Amino acid sequence: MSDLARYIRNIPDFPKPGIQFKDITTLLQNPFAFKLCLDELEACVGKSVDVVVGTESRGFIFGAPLADRLGAGFVPVRKPGKLPDKTYSESYDLEYGTDTLEIHRDAIAKGQKVVIIDDLLATGGTMVATTKLVEKAGGHIEAILFVVELEFLNGRTKLADYNVKSLVKF
Ligand code: AMP
Repeated sequence: MSDLARYIRNIPDFPKPGIQFKDITTLLQNPFAFKLCLDELEACVGKSVDVVVGTESRGFIFGAPLADRLGAGFVPVRKPGKLPDKTYSESYDLEYGTDTLEIHRDAIAKGQKVVIIDDLLATGGTMVATTKLVEKAGGHIEAILFVVELEFLNGRTKLADYNVKSLVKF
């Protein structure tokens, strides 16, 4: 496994009892670790891509510098009401209730090659919604990247149709 695990801090019982929160701020604040993380993400993307899509909000932190390294554009997938132009939207189930994500309708041209990134894969609901948005917009998903994967939650099974890579597994 990647050396990056030692830079990720575990916060027990945040934001509520029973959750082991994987805090990536300790990775980000260390210039060596942040660069190593971007090096490893870049190495996961074998071929040229047109667009990196990042999911709000921690997907933006890794997605924007990764897009720059890959010579690709960056497209944000955002919480409802944040994007000013016409959007596609997707709702997904949470433990209690639902949540929604949006993408600009014109953010991706038909057939463009897309890499999606988020900081962490838990149950997979967030990423399934993001894949649907990218495909509605016309993108072709080449790979889905995560810095952290919580393997015991089996989120990967919901993404079985895609090339999923993660750097650190807990
Ligand atoms: P899920 O949709 O269940 O895969 O949840 C993924 C999203 O929730 C990601 O955007 C993560 O940032 C956040 N998340 C879920 N569980 C954790 C956790 N244990 N530690 C840190 N972030 C988490």
